[in-house]
Amino acid sequence: METMRAWVLTEPRKMEIRALPMPDVKEGEVLVRIKSMGICGSDLHFYTDGKIGDYAMNGKPLILGHECAGEVVKAGEGCSRLSVGDRVIVEPGKPCMRCDECRAGRYNFCHNMYFMGTPPWDGCMCEYVAWPEFLVYEMPEDMSYQEGALIEPFTVGLQGVTNSGIGYADSAVVVGCGTIGMMTIHALKTIGAGTIIAVDMEPFKLEMAKKMGATDTINPRDGDVAEKIRELTDGYGARYAFESVGTEKTFYDISGYVRDGATITLLGLLIDDGTPMPMSSAVMRGLTYKTVIRYVNQFEKAMTLIHYGRANILPVMTHQFPFEKAQEAFDKAVAGKKDSIKVVVDF
Ligand SMILES: [Zn+2]
Ligand SMILES: [Zn+2]
Repeated sequence: METMRAWVLTEPRKMEIRALPMPDVKEGEVLVRIKSMGICGSDLHFYTDGKIGDYAMNGKPLILGHECAGEVVKAGEGCSRLSVGDRVIVEPGKPCMRCDECRAGRYNFCHNMYFMGTPPWDGCMCEYVAWPEFLVYEMPEDMSYQEGALIEPFTVGLQGVTNSGIGYADSAVVVGCGTIGMMTIHALKTIGAGTIIAVDMEPFKLEMAKKMGATDTINPRDGDVAEKIRELTDGYGARYAFESVGTEKTFYDISGYVRDGATITLLGLLIDDGTPMPMSSAVMRGLTYKTVIRYVNQFEKAMTLIHYGRANILPVMTHQFPFEKAQEAFDKAVAGKKDSIKVVVDF
């Protein structure tokens, strides 16, 4: 039997390389040799805790990873767009395209979703993945595999910004400058937002936020965040806000950063329900809270923006590790809050 190498999480913080059977390539699927994979915050939650909310390993081994790019090595029967040798990125959610949500164009809410690296579904930290051709996109020639692996978090930023309803020249504040915060800042810049304020405790991340498009940065250690934001926004606060930390405090405080009638988008992963929210003032001030779960039809758009030079997401990659050292890469990503943003594993 032909096998491939895969990193398998056997229990929290324990991974090993195993030889697993090569995936079957079904009709309409291509076989992708994975070349680069980004480590996501959600991978880290599974790595350290074995679960996020209801998605739990429950003692079953799991292959992590869902941000990947690679090369097509086989095209199954019925494939028409892609052929062997194409350099591609893989959209990691596999919707059924048959249920009511899929048919309504809201495939991120598919009732039968299969999502890479989320229990019980295996991810892409293995050498080969067989995936439906319609969810695999050819990369522009000038895009590297590493950049390809960064597209997925960029699509989250693009989805959040699109979904918020922000228009050009509108003001925005982004709280939390991890990968999703950075990608949101960059998406805001790309669509032509006005004042873009980045908030984070790490000076290194605020520097990076400027590179990604923030017009102003605020470190909460330097004083009152709400007051500084008001100074930068005619005294009233931002019109749009994006939360990408996922702590009780940031969820609660963000309403203090915006003007009446503002829209607040929650992108951070909160692990517990029961988080207090300032609902009375939200009602009295006419605030709108939105959430974003994954993305719909954003991958090709993200690549178009990069191809024409309107977006450049590569700076967020701070560390690279070879496949054999993937566990080190995970430990770096867990530990490296001060100097790391996106850690990439190269196969
Ligand atoms: Zn991700
Ligand atoms: Zn569906």
